[in-house]
Amino acid sequence: ASGHTLLRDPRHNKGTAFTEKERDAHYLRGLLPPVVLSQELQEKKMIQNIRNYEVPLQKYMAMMDLQERNERLFYKLLIDNVDELLPIVYTPVVGEACQKYGSIFRRPQGLYISLKEKGRILEVLKNWPEKSIQVIVVTDGERILGLGDLGCQGMGIPVGKLALYTALGGVRPSVCLPITIDVGTNNQKLLDDEFYIGLKQKRATGQEYAELMEEFMSAVKQNYGEKILIQFEDFANHNAFELLSRYRTSHLVFNDDIQGTASVVLAGLIASLKLVGGTLSDHTFLFLGAGEAGTGIAELIALEISKKTHTSVEENRKKIWLVDSKGLIVSSRRESLQHFKKPWAHEHEPVKSLLDAVKAIKPTVLIGTSGVGKTFTKDVVEAMASLNEKPLILALSNPTSQAECTAEEAYAWSEGRAIFASGSPFDPVDYNGKVYVPGQANNAYIFPGFGLGIIMSGTIRVHDDMLLAASEALAAQVTEENYEKGLIYPPFTSIRKISANIAAKVAAKSYELGLASRLPRPKDLVKYAESCMYSPNYRSYL
Ligand code: NAP
Ligand code: MN
Repeated sequence: ASGHTLLRDPRHNKGTAFTEKERDAHYLRGLLPPVVLSQELQEKKMIQNIRNYEVPLQKYMAMMDLQERNERLFYKLLIDNVDELLPIVYTPVVGEACQKYGSIFRRPQGLYISLKEKGRILEVLKNWPEKSIQVIVVTDGERILGLGDLGCQGMGIPVGKLALYTALGGVRPSVCLPITIDVGTNNQKLLDDEFYIGLKQKRATGQEYAELMEEFMSAVKQNYGEKILIQFEDFANHNAFELLSRYRTSHLVFNDDIQGTASVVLAGLIASLKLVGGTLSDHTFLFLGAGEAGTGIAELIALEISKKTHTSVEENRKKIWLVDSKGLIVSSRRESLQHFKKPWAHEHEPVKSLLDAVKAIKPTVLIGTSGVGKTFTKDVVEAMASLNEKPLILALSNPTSQAECTAEEAYAWSEGRAIFASGSPFDPVDYNGKVYVPGQANNAYIFPGFGLGIIMSGTIRVHDDMLLAASEALAAQVTEENYEKGLIYPPFTSIRKISANIAAKVAAKSYELGLASRLPRPKDLVKYAESCMYSPNYRSYL
């Protein structure tokens, strides 16, 4: 191949890091300036460039440019500066990028499958240059982060999530495929926008939607085989629950908004037991918000307790209560409830407000998953603090403006007694001379390691017990030092080690369940996970 082609290939391009010998061997003489830089020096230069941009979206674009130019440098930068760059490559900045994706669209980073491709999805998959794909992240753009329907512009999400699969979980970039399914959008602003990149029609629903998804799911399996992991991302909740239950027995599917969230939150709860004492079954849980996140977490808690105490899931659901937009979910509402809420309709008189629900249910754990900000008011937090020595308060709604309460409020209103974690990051809080560090229940703790565990063991179906295994693996990574600061999640800086541990525990569970096809089972699964992980360091081309 010519030197020019090599420089244009992001997977192999090293830019000024090509050595003298490589420049001779690959016809690169004259195509690069004379200087030869190390990858470290390139990295140093790049991070300086990125820090120089003041507008977050510019940082995002600089990162995307780098990914399209020099993939290894992109991942090296992301891995080495994960705390700083995660919010750029993923939430919250990726959200803004999606909103404006139409105008910054340059080169396709993933595959678009629209209603126009109906009947030919298999052909479309074959157009993607990489043939051996192991993980797909797919969205239909209907509920992008907390931003609603962004239609085809949701592509930023699968692209960003897969970048994290590689950076945090070590899944090789060449086996990752981002896909956006375009069935239209109900976002009038986009429909009216002359530059909108997607189909200009209202969303297809019902049978038309189901048929396209069915064709997609079978084409994927036909093209990539039984062991292709399909992660559903940012589907609106009716479709999310429906797709997961339809395909979980026939395909290797995982919904991060439901299952990944559940696993990361359960990990925080398991870890917090070190601080509050007792077991999960001693607790009473109250949720504000009964959608993908809320009911997903609730279900996994009930499952974890039932495994630990050898009791039925139904029985343990009774310790868990949820409030939706109409108030506490109770049995008298059962008839009119959506399918996924029915298991939570316990015997109780109707209760309208969250404060009254707290007073009536007397929860030890309060979890916010409604997407509505400022709902854990002073009254609510004070009520939690009067009921509990150490109230557990998780304000999970994103972005920061939608958080149920701030870290500062949680600590102040509970006289420093709350154990607090949130969906969006909060800075440490100084309250009465003590520094409290709030944890972030970030899904990025779980899904990359979870995916690696699935892939490296050749797992053919996702089982809920694997989610429990992931939660326990993550909780086990919280150190005494972290606990002392009030943290119930480990620091992100050691994410690769965390991911390797999660991958090992998930794989171990898969082998135990007979769902792993990679035989023989490696003896040391942590070591094996580490050995499978992608390294972004340059390789020699001599
Ligand atoms: P979803 O499926 O749309 O569910 C939202 C739920 O909140 C619904 O049950 C809805 O009630 C309820 N709700 C809405 N407004 C309410 C109000 N004013 N009072 C009480 N309940 C209200 O959304 P989701 O996917 O579960 O996400 C919810 C939030 O969790 C988002 O902000 C998301 O960013 C956050 N989240 C955080 C993490 C994390 O921290 N790792 C992970 C996932 C999601 P109805 O059912 O009655 O409409
Ligand atoms: Mn999501």
